[in-house]
Amino acid sequence: MSTELSGKLFAEARKLIPGGVNSPVRAWKAVGGNPRFVQRARGSQVFDADGNAYLDYVGSWGPMILGHAHPKVLSAIHAAMRDGTSFGAPTAREIELARTISQAIPSIEMVRLVSSGTEAGMTTIRLARAFTGRSKLLKFNGCYHGHSDSLLVKAGSGALTFGVPDSPGVPDALAAQTLVAEFNDVDGVASCFAKAGDEIAAVIVEPIVGNMGVVPPAPGFLEALRDLTRRHHALLIFDEVITGFRVAYGGVQTVRDIAPDLTCLGKIVGGGLPLAAFGGRREVMELLAPLGPVYQAGTLSGNPLAVAAGIETLAQLRHGDPYARLESLGAQLEAGVRAALARHRVRGVVNRVGSMWTLFFGVDAMRSGTDIPNVDTAAFGKFFQRMLDRGIYLPPSAFEAAFISLAHSEDDIDSTVRAADDSLSALS
Ligand code: PMP
Repeated sequence: MSTELSGKLFAEARKLIPGGVNSPVRAWKAVGGNPRFVQRARGSQVFDADGNAYLDYVGSWGPMILGHAHPKVLSAIHAAMRDGTSFGAPTAREIELARTISQAIPSIEMVRLVSSGTEAGMTTIRLARAFTGRSKLLKFNGCYHGHSDSLLVKAGSGALTFGVPDSPGVPDALAAQTLVAEFNDVDGVASCFAKAGDEIAAVIVEPIVGNMGVVPPAPGFLEALRDLTRRHHALLIFDEVITGFRVAYGGVQTVRDIAPDLTCLGKIVGGGLPLAAFGGRREVMELLAPLGPVYQAGTLSGNPLAVAAGIETLAQLRHGDPYARLESLGAQLEAGVRAALARHRVRGVVNRVGSMWTLFFGVDAMRSGTDIPNVDTAAFGKFFQRMLDRGIYLPPSAFEAAFISLAHSEDDIDSTVRAADDSLSALS
């Protein structure tokens, strides 16, 4: 396949945009080669500038659960657009989206709409600090909650891929307020609380991790977090930016029946437009300006196009049983890839929850950030390139979640499994 135009565009972009991209992982540094410039996308496919088609497992990093360019979502955006694109004043549709979110996730008694997951994470932290009058946070190695200063410590995703878990520019004094524990390590969390329990404002966690690749919580782990935070009067924040409306309509918390104090949402809730949200207990949310003293604001917050896309996307997810379908497609893919690993005697493991999955090379299990150094990233790089040559577009890093959408067909999954089988044969 020719990728000449993508190559030219990347060279041009690099002159004007740092690294040629507006978000680091898009530059493919972890896998090598030039990123494809996307021209358009529809259903389960993306098409690059050279006209090549790929089956897409990036899904814009999570939002596109209905598939690309879903006609109903496009119509909703068009309809909203005819009335203007931004007002900086409240609109009726914002109430509808707030109500929909709160009905889907009962722990969210009040919600505020923002434009990115980073803003959501950053503000939940500010709220927790204000509510408790404490300043320390506890996060987990390999979990990513956006790039605000306090949370850019031992973060996953792009930060992990590039081996810069702590970014220059984050003051030491601020980073020192962030404690880091290992995911799935209840004893580690308990010992943080034993040492600094009355200083910890909040524990923030991806209840199923997506940002070191998919890592599910061990039985009892999330329950233990709820118990420890409650006992020490700290808040529990679930970052469901990926998992909200992805693993189930109401996110991990409704499936596991655990009510966090605050929740971050993003990605699916904005239907592919820039929208995220955070919400939770009324008494905490009531601290937000203009009701309370904790400041947070946004020129484009609650943008009418994004709100319309979010409302329609969530409405589509209430039709039929989309999560059963996603589970069945996910199971088909997992079984096929596991069989291919075994057939070619390639060491690796597939972690999957519903439609989010990661194939980790070089390990038999991936349970927490302590397993990260054992993952064979070189093998992933080779696999990624071979899959790409076969028309399969995976996330360009060994530590990311791949996403299946409702637009993927059984045939799409079959051809992905065949491509994986082929690609793995060269790795054995
Ligand atoms: N939290 C999680 C769990 C995420 O996966 C991400 C982004 N991948 C964020 C927060 C930050 O969201 P955004 O990129 O919209 O700022």
